[in-house]
Amino acid sequence: METHRPTLISAVLPAYEESEGLPIMISSLMPVLSATGFNYEIVVVDDGSADNTRAVMLGLCARHPCLRYIRLSRNFGKEAALSAGLRAAAGDAVILMDADGQHPPSLIPVLIEQWRQGFEAVAAVQETRDESWAKRLFKRTYYHLMEAGSHVVIAPDAGDFRLLDRKVVDAINALPERNRQMKGLYAWVGFRTAYVPFKAEARIAGETKFTWGQLFRLAFTGLTSFTVMPLRLVSVAGLVISITSLLYAFYLLFEHYVEGDHLPGWATLSVGMMFLSGVQLLALGVIGEYLGRTFEEAKQRPVYIVAEDTTQKARLHPAPAIYDAASRVADASKPDEQAAP
Ligand code: UDP
Ligand code: MG
Repeated sequence: METHRPTLISAVLPAYEESEGLPIMISSLMPVLSATGFNYEIVVVDDGSADNTRAVMLGLCARHPCLRYIRLSRNFGKEAALSAGLRAAAGDAVILMDADGQHPPSLIPVLIEQWRQGFEAVAAVQETRDESWAKRLFKRTYYHLMEAGSHVVIAPDAGDFRLLDRKVVDAINALPERNRQMKGLYAWVGFRTAYVPFKAEARIAGETKFTWGQLFRLAFTGLTSFTVMPLRLVSVAGLVISITSLLYAFYLLFEHYVEGDHLPGWATLSVGMMFLSGVQLLALGVIGEYLGRTFEEAKQRPVYIVAEDTTQKARLHPAPAIYDAASRVADASKPDEQAAP
C-alpha cells in the first residue's frame, strides 16, 4: 500500500576532525534546506574524530531534531564514512557534501531543481581548484587510466558533492564490495546524471586530511577495483619482451654461424637477466595487488563499524521526532519500509 508521505531530503556530511567548521556548516545548511520546502534531515558521520566533534554534535542534536549523529568506531576513511551515511539516510534524495564548508550549501536548490526535472543523479563539478600542478596532473592521469581501463566514464572534476535519487542510493547500498572508491561506484551504477558547475569555497577551519599517500592508495584502489588494465599491461610487456628476446636469439645464432665468435657477451647477459627479473617482480606485484583485493573481499569484513547513532538512542526512549516532520512521526505507527533507516 502506497502511503503518501512528504518528500524527505537528506544531507550527508562525512566529518573527520571538523569540530570547528561543523556548527558553521550546519547553521548555514539548515536555512537552505528548509527554504526548499521539503522535509529534511542532516546526517553527520563522524569518521572517528579525535577532537571534540562528538560533544559538539551531541549538543547540536539536542537542539535540532533534524540532526542525526553517527559515530564510526575509528577512522575508516571518507569512502567508508560516505557509505555509512548513504545507508543511514532515509531521504528520497540524498545530498553528499563535505563538512568543511568547501561545498557551498547555496548550490543545493540548483541540485534539487535538476532532480525535480527528472535527473536521477546531479553531480557538482568544480570549476577551478586551488591545487598544485602535481596534484592536478596526478588526478588527470588517474582519470584517463580509469576511463581507458574500465568502461565507465568518470567525470574528472565531479567529486563527492552530489545529489542522488533514492534509486541510486539503493543501488549503491546494494553493491557488495568492500574496496569502495565512491567515484567509481557512482559511475558504475550509471543513471541519468546532470552536471552543474560550482566554485569550491575555502575550508572553514583546519586543513585537508588527504595526504599524497592516501591519494595514491585511493587511486590504486580505484584502478584495481575497476580495471584489469594493469594485469593486461603486464601481459603485453611480457609478450613484447619475449618476442624481443626471441629476435635477439636469432641474431646471436646468425652472429655465431655467419660472422664467427668474438668476445662472449657477458654484459648483454647480465643486463638481460636483470631486466627480466625486474619485469617478473613487477608482474608478481601486480598479481599480488589483485590477490590482496580478493583477500579483502573474501574476509567479508564490514566497510565500517557504527559505534553510536543518535537515532537509535532516540528509538530506545520512545518518541522524539528524528526529522523535523510531524507527518513522519504520525506515519511511524504504520509500517513503512522506506522510513526505516
Ligand atoms: N573526511 C572523512 N574521513 C577522512 C578524511 C576526510 O570523513 O578520513 C571528510 C572530511 O572531514 C571532509 C571531507 O571528508 O568533510 C573532505 O575531506 P578534506 O576536506 O580533507 O579533503 P579535500 O577537500 O581536500 O578533498
Ligand atoms: Mg575539503
